[in-house]
Amino acid sequence: MPIGKGEANRERDMAGEAYIRKLRKTFEEMPHDIPLLLFADRGADNVFAQAARQVIRAFRELSPRITLKEYDLNHELARKHQVTSSPTLIIAPDRYSIRWLGAPMGEEARTFLEIMLLVGTGKSGLSEQSAKVIRRIDSPRRIKVFVSPTCPYCPQQAVNGVKAAVELPEHVSLEIVDIQAEPEIANQYGAQSVPMAFANDVLIGHGAQAEEVFASSLQKMEPQTIFIPDSDAEQVETDLLIVGGGPAGLTAGIYAVRSGLKAAIVERLALGGQVALTPIVENYPGFTSVGGKTLVDIMVSHALQYTQIFLGEDVVDVQYGHPIVVRTSRRTFRTKTLLLATGASHRVLGVPGESRLSGRGVSYCSTCDGPLFKGKRVIMVGGGNSAVTEALHLFHMGVHVTLVHRRDTLRAQDVLSKQLADNGVPIVWDTEVEEIRGEERVREVLLRNTRSGKTSALNVDGVFVAIGYEPAVRIAQQMGLELNEEGYVRQDGRHRTSLPGVYSAGDVEGGYKQIVTASGQGAEAAMTIFEDLINPYWMADRRTAAAAAVAQ
Ligand code: NAP
Repeated sequence: MPIGKGEANRERDMAGEAYIRKLRKTFEEMPHDIPLLLFADRGADNVFAQAARQVIRAFRELSPRITLKEYDLNHELARKHQVTSSPTLIIAPDRYSIRWLGAPMGEEARTFLEIMLLVGTGKSGLSEQSAKVIRRIDSPRRIKVFVSPTCPYCPQQAVNGVKAAVELPEHVSLEIVDIQAEPEIANQYGAQSVPMAFANDVLIGHGAQAEEVFASSLQKMEPQTIFIPDSDAEQVETDLLIVGGGPAGLTAGIYAVRSGLKAAIVERLALGGQVALTPIVENYPGFTSVGGKTLVDIMVSHALQYTQIFLGEDVVDVQYGHPIVVRTSRRTFRTKTLLLATGASHRVLGVPGESRLSGRGVSYCSTCDGPLFKGKRVIMVGGGNSAVTEALHLFHMGVHVTLVHRRDTLRAQDVLSKQLADNGVPIVWDTEVEEIRGEERVREVLLRNTRSGKTSALNVDGVFVAIGYEPAVRIAQQMGLELNEEGYVRQDGRHRTSLPGVYSAGDVEGGYKQIVTASGQGAEAAMTIFEDLINPYWMADRRTAAAAAVAQ
């Protein structure tokens, strides 16, 4: 039988009353009182101050544990707490540094309730992972979260800030700023769309972030888009351990786990490898144009849905056997198979001054360092896809870039070379860098024309180097894997290396070195590994090979 309007209202009222009763009880049982100090300009007719009073009054009715003292902006306590805006609400100043500029109304009433509950219990409510990240912070973080009462996403970001301030009151302070009440401060920070979070005046998050991502952004002091959970496990057992978190390793992780294997990825530096440093990628299917780091973040989020990633761990030792025992800087992995997707690292020129001035004008990453050279003169050394892509990136950033190439034709794809010409980026042909000069910073380069043999000096502020990569074969060499004539890992066409149970994929194998080919090789390697693992003959061979290796 349909229920009438009156009955529906009665039911809703009863549910509301039950909720209020529960809240009252929760406040009653809390270990801490919640003193609030409201600073407001009593003389002026400030609607935000009125609203703040009303909201606080409603909360005070819930529990005598919430107390309110109101002061004028001229009061000495306002000076003590450095309050200059009306209304400013300070919450439990004896224990925390949390304040609100504006009124906690509209959507923000949710944040306010959460603050009361967290401050009352004295517990941050952070997940174990987020708390771990926050507790690593060892210097002050002054958080400002810009919010507005009409923004449904704001409470999530504001509560992230509250949790951090409650977890680590010795270092973290929080100011929630209502942009409607404080338009001038919002303008000053360029906070035109909320939520926006800053720490020590540095932007750490635009939009509502997941709690772990916020914690990680606050710790690293730059906006993060993904969070890689930490693991305390000292021993990890896997069917497949992947070394390298670039496109090959990440794709292999996805494919392996989807085949039913237990896989893990270990990455010693940054996920994504070279792709993360590529300014713009225009040849990865499905994306007409995408930032390298953005593409990496998408791949990592995807891989994390399947496999664990152990970030910041270097492989220090591999004992080939059955299982293969891989010791990293953090723990030990015992694995049936090992995939080396270690990629390649950038090549250096090897000329005088290069290593001394590295980081002082010599750079191998235009995405990272390009902005520092805006309006300045730099050269980009190289003639391949990397050099041309990065020269274009610098050019579009407003850097005065000249390409210096040792031959008279580029190795880069036509479409890229054409863009270089269309934009009028100068090219110095048939020229090598002989020396990089400067005391504290790069000041000039000595160039030599390879045809005439003549040398000349050129004044520059920076030298960007993009002359290809060397395969990262340290682990392969330590394990005694066969390498090919060019120094890449030798494999049988299905990514099996010279040791049964050990595989390779991506740039470490040589070949085309494209993101899409590395991903493809990762997928292929994972499928070969799956097929090998379910093949009893292969397993038997593998045990024999492992036993022989151990006996040696
Ligand atoms: P690369 O294709 O091997 O080109 C290296 C360039 O540096 C060549 O022009 C080479 O000159 C020059 N070079 C090498 N050693 C040098 C030295 N000691 N002094 C001066 N110049 C030197 O390397 P890359 O451009 O880094 O690209 C690596 C791989 O990634 C390639 O397979 C490339 O296709 C791929 N990639 C693709 C994209 C894309 O598709 N968007 C972007 C970046 C990279 P020579 O020409 O005389 O040998």
